[in-house]
Amino acid sequence: MGKPISHIVRRPGRVEGDPGVEIPVSEDLATVPGIPLREVDVSFYSRVQPLESQNVEKGADRDWVWTVYADDVAEYIKGHDERMKPFIDTASVSGDVEPSGAPTAGEDLTEDIRSKARELGFGEVGFTRFDRRYVYESKRGWVKFPHAVCLALEQDYGQTQSLPSLEAEYAHYGTYEIESEMAERLAELIRDRGYHAQMHSPRDPSAAVIPMFVAAGLGQLGANGQLLSPHFGSRARLMMITTDAPVKYDAPVDYGMHAFCQKCQICVNRCPGRALVKDRVWWRGAHKNKLIYERCRPVMATYEGCGVCMKVCPVQKFGMPAVMEHYVETGEVLGKGTDDLEGYALSDKGYFAPGKLPHFERSFFEFPHGRREDWLFEQFKERLANEETPTTEDLSQFARKVKSAMVKSRATRDE
Ligand code: SF4
Ligand code: SF4
Repeated sequence: MGKPISHIVRRPGRVEGDPGVEIPVSEDLATVPGIPLREVDVSFYSRVQPLESQNVEKGADRDWVWTVYADDVAEYIKGHDERMKPFIDTASVSGDVEPSGAPTAGEDLTEDIRSKARELGFGEVGFTRFDRRYVYESKRGWVKFPHAVCLALEQDYGQTQSLPSLEAEYAHYGTYEIESEMAERLAELIRDRGYHAQMHSPRDPSAAVIPMFVAAGLGQLGANGQLLSPHFGSRARLMMITTDAPVKYDAPVDYGMHAFCQKCQICVNRCPGRALVKDRVWWRGAHKNKLIYERCRPVMATYEGCGVCMKVCPVQKFGMPAVMEHYVETGEVLGKGTDDLEGYALSDKGYFAPGKLPHFERSFFEFPHGRREDWLFEQFKERLANEETPTTEDLSQFARKVKSAMVKSRATRDE
C-alpha cells in the first residue's frame, strides 16, 4: 500500500543526457523547503559574530594535523597542495578579470550557464543570491558580485565506499583539482558573454556555502552536516562562481531530508568520534544537528580524513530517488543495519560492524584549539599558572611566535 505522498520533486538526471528523476516525499517527511531558518537570527549573528574560515579560526589544529597524518597521507596532501596552488592563485584574482566579450541587452544567461556547467560535468548547478551573511570576515571585501552559481561535482563512487582510506582521499582531493579546472572554463564562458566571473576556490573558501546551495534548491542539510543532494548525497565537492551576469534564482526544495535524517540517524550512530548529535539545536538561525568539532578533528586527522559520516549515508550510496521510494513503500531506511552500508574499518583498530564502535582514550581528543596565536597564549598562560617565571629570552621568543602566527592567520587559505 505504501505511505501517502505529500509531493514529488522532479530533478534533472545525474549526468547530462540522463533522463530526469522523480523523488516521492511522503507526508510524514514533508517539512519546509530548504532548512528551517530564523532569518532575524541569521542576520544578527552575521553582524555580531561574523563567520570566519576554519583555516583562520582553527589555525592551531591546521599545523597540528601534519604531526598526526600517516606518511602516505601527508605526502599525497602535499602534492595536492602543490597542484592546487595555481588554481587558488588564479581564483584569488579572478574577480578583477575584465569580460572578454560584450553583453547583449535584455538577455538572461541562466540556462546557458547551467547547460555549460552540466556539459563540463558538474552534477548539480543552481543559482541564488550570494548571501553576504555567510561570508567569512577575512573575505568581506573580496567578494565582488551579487549572484552565486552553485556547483557540485560528484566524487568517485567506488573510492568513496572505501572510506576511510587513502584511496578515498584521492577521490576527495582529486575532485577539488578537477572541478577547479572545470570552473575556469565556465568562468571563461561567462566572460565571453560580457560579464565578470569570480571563482571561489574550494581550497580557499570565502563563505559557508551550504546554506546557499540549499537556497538554490540543490539539496538539504543532512544530520552529518553535509549537503544531501539528489543523486550523490554528500559524495560531492562544492564550489561557487559569483557573477554580475543576468540570471534567475532557483528556489529551495523540500526533499523530505530534514525529517528523514531524524528517522535515519545512521551517521549519528556510526560516527567513530561520537561527534554527531541526534538532537537538533538552533544555531546561528538554522535548525540543525550541530557537529562537535573537537570530537571529529582528531579522528579525521588520524584516519585518512575519516568521512564515515559520508560513507554510511544511504543517500550517498543509493541516491535520493531509491531511498525515498523505499521509504514510501516500506517505512524503512534503505540499507540500515547492513554491513554493506554501515560497516567500516579503521587502520589500527580493525573492522566495525553495525552496532559496534571504536574506543579512544581521552588523550586522543587533546589537540591545539582556536587560532594559532590564541593557542600560543593558552600555552603561555598555563606556564604562568604553573608559576614558571619567563626569562627575557622566553618573552622575546613568545613575541616572535605570536607575530608569525598572526601572519599565518592572515593567509586565509589552507596550507
Ligand atoms: S568525519 Fe568521522 S569523526 Fe568526523 S563527524 Fe564524520 S564520521 Fe564523525
Ligand atoms: S546517514 Fe541518514 S541521518 Fe545521516 S545524513 Fe545520511 S540520511 Fe541523514
